[in-house]
Amino acid sequence: MDNCDWCNLSEEDKQFKVYESKSWSVFLSDEQDYIGRCILVLKRHCNSLSELTDGEWDELRNLVCKVEICLKTVLGATLCNWSCLMNNFYKELEPNPHLHIHVRPRYEKPVMFNGNTYTDSEYGHHYALHKSGEISAKDKEEVFILLKEWLNR
Ligand SMILES: [Zn+2]
Repeated sequence: MDNCDWCNLSEEDKQFKVYESKSWSVFLSDEQDYIGRCILVLKRHCNSLSELTDGEWDELRNLVCKVEICLKTVLGATLCNWSCLMNNFYKELEPNPHLHIHVRPRYEKPVMFNGNTYTDSEYGHHYALHKSGEISAKDKEEVFILLKEWLNR
């Protein structure tokens, strides 16, 4: 799709890619409101989960397992919130969504990085849409390296 931003990711968009399979790419999200938040993007243009091929579903299943174990092992996540929303695409006059899935790790206990403490104050509840508090660039880089190393071992 020539006019789809998700089919034409820039090098800058791709700089936080932590893992890649045949059909999917996994990126550390720009937003780190929940430490380790990632996004799974299907490499081909596809509008919805219901249009995935059997092979893409198989890969997605393996990826969900792999990413969950990674977030629990590396960052100490208690559980993961998975969501496939696509709502922003439908603000357009002619929606043409590109399938992607968000994963937000949720934490019973605070996560510590370089002396910084990140707390999941909504733990046990729906994730916050506008969460306060920013991750430092240094901590984001460290999370990126840790996840990338674990996923590509
Ligand atoms: Zn696309």
